[in-house]
Amino acid sequence: MQLSIVVPCYNEQEVLPRLVTTLQEVLPALVDTFEVLLVDDGSRDGTLAEIRAVHEADDRFRYLALSRNFGKEAAMLAGLSHSRGEAVAILDADLQHPPALLAEMLPLLDEGYEQVVARRTRAGDPAGRSAVSRVYYGLMNRMVEVDLEDGVGDFRVLSRVAVQALLSLGEVNRFSKGLFSWIGFKVAVVDYENVARDVGASKWRLRDLLDYGIDGVLSFNSKPLRLSIWFGTFVALVAFVYALWVLVDAVVNGNPVAGYVTTICAVVGFGGVQMILLGVIGEYLGRIYSETKHRPHFLVRETSEGLGHHPVTVP
Ligand code: UDP
Ligand code: MG
Repeated sequence: MQLSIVVPCYNEQEVLPRLVTTLQEVLPALVDTFEVLLVDDGSRDGTLAEIRAVHEADDRFRYLALSRNFGKEAAMLAGLSHSRGEAVAILDADLQHPPALLAEMLPLLDEGYEQVVARRTRAGDPAGRSAVSRVYYGLMNRMVEVDLEDGVGDFRVLSRVAVQALLSLGEVNRFSKGLFSWIGFKVAVVDYENVARDVGASKWRLRDLLDYGIDGVLSFNSKPLRLSIWFGTFVALVAFVYALWVLVDAVVNGNPVAGYVTTICAVVGFGGVQMILLGVIGEYLGRIYSETKHRPHFLVRETSEGLGHHPVTVP
């Protein structure tokens, strides 16, 4: 079987040599032929130079350099679209996705599974981050139709059909975790122990995780819009009942209507609610806007086969 390994790399200069030697040790024992596709996602350090050197030394390592940092999602997509293998594995450069696990994953493809996903345990993660993840998946699974599982990330092996299926999804705002699940096919899961990052630092901050959460919910459905309707109705109803009560109190009990506090509360409260709802609508509008531009997901500057070129299509 021919296997492609896609590795998105962003400022991974220090880990690359370790990654390359590990892959050179592990892969020949697993498959007859393989290609490793290193995708440089616009790194600012010496990653690209390192990657070129790796390719010079061992041409089983191909590469692809994007014109700037497009983010991991785009880097993975670029790798998938340039991969040639019958099966494609996606790995992180930092060795947090142990390549040795492929020994357990690949046989499952032969058993007829189209996707084999690796699920990690959360041992050794900062406590704050694990907690955020748990809450995140709890909420997400309520909000979206696709099934997302804690510990399941981008580390997986896909058969060619699954890869083509993913590539056929043209959306610009890509949320891979959801897309992987959305395409379906027969999925097998392999568990592995969490590995701490080797060198360098994770590029994710808490803020990114929260943004990622919002992306996840918004890219799969319009439930937040539906929720806004319910929320708006509820608030309007409360205001109506309260107004009625003030009116009855004034007419029946002759109670003088209390000062401006209630007015201010209502104005500020409704202002807030309206801004939230506008924000939700705006998020969708922004997405529609970026989808209608039909921009490519990434631009290639250079590949191991030569310079990147982009077909110009004007509709
Ligand atoms: N990565 C990338 N582009 C980015 C950020 C990250 O290609 O803009 C790559 C990075 O080089 C690594 C993988 O995505 O191979 C996962 O990144 P990281 O280890 O920072 O994330 P974490 O493991 O903390 O989720
Ligand atoms: Mg990592």
